[in-house]
Amino acid sequence: MSGLSGSTSPTPDRQVLVVGGGIGGLATAAFLRRNGLSPVVVTGGNDVSETDRDVVLWNSAVVLLDELDVAADLVASTPAIRWWHVRRDADEVERLTSAHDGQWPCVAVGRAHLRELLRSRLPADSVRLSKTPSRLEGADDDLSVEFDDGVREQFDVVVGADGVRSWVRGARFDTESPAAWGTTSWDVHADGRLGAPETVTELWTTEGLVVSGPPGTTSRLRFVTTALSREDPDPGAAADLLSRTVPPGAFPGGGVDPSALSVVDGRPDYGVRSDRWIAGRVALVGDAARSFPPTVPLDPSLAVEDAYVLADELATPGTSFAALERYAHRRRGRRRALERCVPLADATARGRLDADGLAGLRDRRAALLRSLFAGRVPAMAADVVDRL
Ligand SMILES: Cc1cc2nc3c(=O)[nH]c(=O)nc-3n(C[C@H](O)[C@H](O)[C@H](O)COP(=O)(O)OP(=O)(O)OC[C@H]3O[C@@H](n4cnc5c(N)ncnc54)[C@H](O)[C@@H]3O)c2cc1C
Repeated sequence: MSGLSGSTSPTPDRQVLVVGGGIGGLATAAFLRRNGLSPVVVTGGNDVSETDRDVVLWNSAVVLLDELDVAADLVASTPAIRWWHVRRDADEVERLTSAHDGQWPCVAVGRAHLRELLRSRLPADSVRLSKTPSRLEGADDDLSVEFDDGVREQFDVVVGADGVRSWVRGARFDTESPAAWGTTSWDVHADGRLGAPETVTELWTTEGLVVSGPPGTTSRLRFVTTALSREDPDPGAAADLLSRTVPPGAFPGGGVDPSALSVVDGRPDYGVRSDRWIAGRVALVGDAARSFPPTVPLDPSLAVEDAYVLADELATPGTSFAALERYAHRRRGRRRALERCVPLADATARGRLDADGLAGLRDRRAALLRSLFAGRVPAMAADVVDRL
């Protein structure tokens, strides 16, 4: 790992364009910068309007972010998740928790806060806001990118970090578009306390799954269901279903009155399932490359892992083609290992679930979380750092 392990080989002078200024794109640019490259980031958003929803970061990502000197700030300013409850009803609760060497396995961080920290590791003029690519040409020679302002520039490598509806994926991987998981997700406003700040609670019912947290978003729940139309989300129907789904006292720390729940937003959940993350000198990272169902809070951590591995390979001498091949190879093993244990992916695609189906998913979900909580923290990162 030349860029990271102190190799004496010179860092290759690659011109890298990162499309997308979310966690995946900014982490890619920050790791590249740390490895001696000078990437450019363009992002469609203005970086201000996005809501500061919390995302879960597992220690596999936190230990990597530590190399950018942002982990201490993150961990100090956000609560560790100490308790994760998976429950069928108020009586049957599985409580998952464990600390390793005094560290908790995951933290809930504000998405905007993390992006701000990552941006602080980049020169201001390397992040260009409200700029999107409109044309991507070239393959073996330089890649030529035309932007929406008419400017055209040459790059050695283009990284698509532009989320689940990636433009880059559409431009270079045109047969693969996001597919609905079969669920609809609803943001729910709740008047009342939803539990202690370090607690995440999942309530599995025959109508779907209600998740409180992660911590910091204590007035919000997420309601994921297969029982409502994905094409035409109806907030009234969702509110009605939700009030029948959440029993009084379902959430710890005082519970929540079902009549105090109101649906504020609903959307179909899209996922990306692909083994193709590279095409010539174009690579995908984060949600653009692969996403898991919304109830599996692994995607932000995997975006950071992608970023680390890609930046590592691009800092290694050799051709850009070979660097991207090695990147895809290392990440493929990780994704396959996770996919084997991730619930909801196939099951929800089959449509509405019966009670037995949901009970099975809940059990697999609990098993996944149990394994994440039980896993030794450095061992998770070893998957990323060692060559697969
Ligand atoms: C609606 C939603 C809710 C989520 N909720 C949670 C949650 O509660 N908990 C959790 O752990 N994870 C959640 N996630 C997942 C998490 O946000 C992502 O996994 C994580 O942010 C890493 O994503 P990313 O950087 O790959 O993509 P994104 O965060 O989607 O960032 C993509 C970036 O690309 C930019 N962009 C898009 N198109 C273009 C273009 N054509 N040109 C230039 N820039 C472009 C966007 O403006 C954005 O800045 C959610 C994701 C979404 C979409």
